[in-house]
Amino acid sequence: LTAASGGGIVAYADSSRAEEASEPPPRKKKVVVLGTGWAGTSFLKNLDSSRYEVKVISPRNYFAFTPLLPSVTCGTVEARSIVEPIRRMFDKKRKDVAYYEAECFKIDPSKKAVHCRSAVGTNLDGNGDFMVDYDYLVVALGATVNTFNTPGVMEHCHFLKEVEDAQKIRKSVIDCFERASLPNLSEEEKRKILHFVIIGGGPTGVEFAAELHDFLVEDLVKLYPAIEEFVKITIIQSGEHILNTFDQRIAVFAESKFQRDGIELSTGFRVIKVSDDSITVKCKSSGVETLVPYGMAIWSAGIGTRPVITEFMNQVGQGKRRALATNEWLRVRECDSVYAIGDCSSISQRKIMEDISTVFKVADKDNSGTLTLKEINDILEDICIRYPQVELYMKSMHMLDISDLIKGGVGDANKESMVVDIEEFKKALCHVDSQVKTVPATAQVAAQQGYYLADCFNKMDHCVEHPEGPLRLTGSGEGHHNFRPFRYKHLGQFAPLGGEQAAAELPGDWVSMGHSTQWLWYSVYASKQVSWRTRVLVVSDWTRRFIFGRDSSR
Ligand code: FAD
Ligand code: MG
Ligand code: MG
Ligand code: MG
Ligand code: MG
Repeated sequence: LTAASGGGIVAYADSSRAEEASEPPPRKKKVVVLGTGWAGTSFLKNLDSSRYEVKVISPRNYFAFTPLLPSVTCGTVEARSIVEPIRRMFDKKRKDVAYYEAECFKIDPSKKAVHCRSAVGTNLDGNGDFMVDYDYLVVALGATVNTFNTPGVMEHCHFLKEVEDAQKIRKSVIDCFERASLPNLSEEEKRKILHFVIIGGGPTGVEFAAELHDFLVEDLVKLYPAIEEFVKITIIQSGEHILNTFDQRIAVFAESKFQRDGIELSTGFRVIKVSDDSITVKCKSSGVETLVPYGMAIWSAGIGTRPVITEFMNQVGQGKRRALATNEWLRVRECDSVYAIGDCSSISQRKIMEDISTVFKVADKDNSGTLTLKEINDILEDICIRYPQVELYMKSMHMLDISDLIKGGVGDANKESMVVDIEEFKKALCHVDSQVKTVPATAQVAAQQGYYLADCFNKMDHCVEHPEGPLRLTGSGEGHHNFRPFRYKHLGQFAPLGGEQAAAELPGDWVSMGHSTQWLWYSVYASKQVSWRTRVLVVSDWTRRFIFGRDSSR
């Protein structure tokens, strides 16, 4: 068996097949998966585990359906309903899948091993440390919160990343109401205690604000009528608008709905310090600082890099990055046999200008030193697979075919006889790389990457050795033997806005907002559940909430 060294995926050379027959079956390759979030579980569910010896390492023995975490903060959905035990996801007949409840604290690519620490505190090696070696490593560790080193945030703010966070928030909200109900409090103190501040106006912050608002007006004010008038929710957002990754129409709709609901939007403010009872904000335009008294604060202003990833990036010479750089086949750059998927990674798309001479040479089949329109058209599909920015650029410039790109000014009559030399070819493509897009840190991307990578692993046997993937352009083999690079397919995104209303942005520039969209949201999120068990639980939680309201006990 030989492993392709530079490749997206390691392949077995066909020539070695015959010899294998007489030898004992080869040892199954060891695949170690770090993390059981969106990316890790999507990989595991789609991997044909009969081909590999699989070991899964994660400090949490369950998968959490993060899009419903904001609903857990207010008891709309119970925490138990959105988690699925990881062991239930394994195929029962497969004995070659093992799960270890532990945290990986070091990746050692030179020894092809990961160092782990037991999360349950058993005494394995004096301190619960152990080592697991791999043939292939799949890093799916996700991201952590990012406080941008703002003083006091770690100590005083809540976060919304894990199931435990959501449970803590739920308890704290009720705590605030009970505290504000105690005797002998001044009005000012009540206002302070019942001031809920959300820092960060992205999808998570906005959804939490909406959920909290519903909880307050639908359930809590009935139970605490005496203090209703003191309740306030504020969103602090440093940008000009909330939901700035969404279509402008959705941002406007959300902002006006929140205005009607009495949710205050402080846009254009940056939080510079948090103390136990006040938040210091700075107006970005005037530079004036103000103190905002609060009872409870939630920080949802960005994601950061986990220390184990930072350390690994330093080892492989990616020190200055925020996420692990992979190639388009999701293999970590400059690191054999290690793949990274989900929030901990980002694909660094190869620029076409770096390969321009090779592309030209491959296209120039007759070695004439010039390309005809036919020669370019023959390779165009390969180019667009390998360098998606070419297609994006043409789309953004409203170009219909490649001749528009190659010779902007050529009239229709001249197209067929067009020829370009290398310099003209370079000039035509020199702006294309500006269209390289990064994929967002979302569950949708993580799940698609997990699925794609599992597919690659499942088909490894069928691949012929190739240096950098699928194409005539960059590989030696025939196109069909090789793998297409990962391509993200955006299926749209939702923003639940409370009061049984939601906004959605769907493929094809389709935007929908209001009550019917909320029903679409219910059906999509019910269908996306990982198992029938959680689906039934989630739907019955929604039903219970409709009939009886939320549970407001701690
Ligand atoms: P994660 O899902 O975070 O998984 C990381 C895994 O690694 C976890 O199992 C963790 O326990 C494990 N781990 C951590 N440290 C270690 C270690 N040292 N060793 C071993 N294992 C470790 N995305 C959407 O597309 N739509 C949404 O509606 C949406 N809503 C969201 C709402 C909230 C409140 C949040 C927090 C996120 C939301 N996201 C949403 C984003 C989405 O959850 C993430 O993009 C997604 O979880 C990324 O998947 P991942 O597998 O990379 O990381
Ligand atoms: Mg994961
Ligand atoms: Mg997850
Ligand atoms: Mg990513
Ligand atoms: Mg030629």
